Amino acid sequence: MKGSSVISKTITFSVRNKTDLGNKLLAVGVYGNMYKVIRCLYSKLQSAVRLSPTMFTEWFSVDSGVRQGDNLAPTLFALFIDELVPLINGLCCGALIGDDMISCLLYADDLVLISGTVDGLQNQLNALNDWTKTQLMNVNTEKTKIMHIRKTTKDRTQFTFRLGDNIVAFVNKYRYLGLTLSEHIDYNVSVSELVSAGSRSLGSLISKFFNMGNMDYDIFTKIYENTVIPVLDYASGVWGAKQYDNIERLHYRAIRTFLGVGKTTPIPAILADMGWHPVFIHNQCNVVRLWCRLMNMPGHRICRKVFVWDRDMSRRYRNTWFNSAKTLLDRCNLSHLTENDSAISTRFILDSVKSKLVADFKDKWFNEINNMPKLRTYKHLKTEFYAEPYVQKHLTRTQRSAIARIRCGTFPLEVERGRYRNIPIEQRVCKMCNSGSIEDEQHFILYCDRYSVLRNKLFTAISPDPAYPLHINELPPNAALNELLSNNNKSIANFILDCDRIRREII
Ligand SMILES: [Zn+2]
Repeated sequence: MKGSSVISKTITFSVRNKTDLGNKLLAVGVYGNMYKVIRCLYSKLQSAVRLSPTMFTEWFSVDSGVRQGDNLAPTLFALFIDELVPLINGLCCGALIGDDMISCLLYADDLVLISGTVDGLQNQLNALNDWTKTQLMNVNTEKTKIMHIRKTTKDRTQFTFRLGDNIVAFVNKYRYLGLTLSEHIDYNVSVSELVSAGSRSLGSLISKFFNMGNMDYDIFTKIYENTVIPVLDYASGVWGAKQYDNIERLHYRAIRTFLGVGKTTPIPAILADMGWHPVFIHNQCNVVRLWCRLMNMPGHRICRKVFVWDRDMSRRYRNTWFNSAKTLLDRCNLSHLTENDSAISTRFILDSVKSKLVADFKDKWFNEINNMPKLRTYKHLKTEFYAEPYVQKHLTRTQRSAIARIRCGTFPLEVERGRYRNIPIEQRVCKMCNSGSIEDEQHFILYCDRYSVLRNKLFTAISPDPAYPLHINELPPNAALNELLSNNNKSIANFILDCDRIRREII
């Protein structure tokens, strides 16, 4: 069998008796008062379950395992499990990574056995079973699974693995330390699990947003960056070199909720008004961050050895982590970094990568806003990528939504409604006045006669001197719109909402 089989299991650990734990402590050089204290801690172990802040069950004695929530517990557990590692390594059944053989990975009570052959893995399982018996430990068979990691073109092995008398079941994916790995190491599987978790976090943010009626931009952004992004970018140093649409879609959902716009609103417009970059830029920076860590890591660390091995493999195989990171660095004009092994400055590289990725994204963004029919008004309003004042100021949800929809071209004016009914542009005229003009954002805000009373009121309200009302509609149309929609956020939002009310009564 080519490729490696991975098995993960949780071991329940039992302190057999006082002498057993005592011997282990003495063997590692713990003696004197510290020895007495630890022995004493485990002499009459009792636990109770807290049902509510004031309600507890009866105390019951516990004769196996370590104390729950105790800072010392992982160390005591390590004393026992440490003996297992040389035992498994001694079998020499692991997978070869360069000149090194990796047979098992340990994290707290999580154990992964790795082997390149079925017989090798079965040998490791037998050794584990014998060892747990002598140590009076139990393996949690419910959580113990086999995963055959292989190419998509290969079939899964038919071998039946056993742990003692139990048959160990196969799985096609396994969640290890928070990241779901699939049998073909397809990161789309891992990412879709992270997106489901991120979606739950975003759901909780959105329900807070609606329960509170509204939220300020800074607060919304802060909560998003601290509760949703950390879920979405978990381990993205490993999988984040390419762009995943489902992650970006979740990002857009957060923005649409805050701006109060519908699903048909052009993405480039909402990203730029919010001033949020796409998530892939953040994730690709994480790939480079991991790259820098591995480059600066001492040679004896396993991660570093795997990195060097992967780099060697990259000469023969295209689909490696090294190659995906290299493509990214090449794109950022940092190819020379992949060619030598010298220590590098993480800060400098990350800054260069980020500014290049952001610059590329902005170029693409600029082309997109100039080529989308809905953004007929927007392209004249926005030339730089930053959070708009109307987004940052304290507006109600309805006010914010009114401005966002007018800017992004989704306000239900004739020019937009006609697009869906395939009406020629020259026939999408305003039904509110007799001017015969096309009802677009300019006509609606600056010229339509039906709203002149409201408009004069607005211009008076926003004039520095009320005696001399501004004649914004005498400016060139785009300059006038720019002036109105960039400043005066509250007044213009109320004007749009009032006009819309009149419009709805008639149409
Ligand atoms: Zn009109």
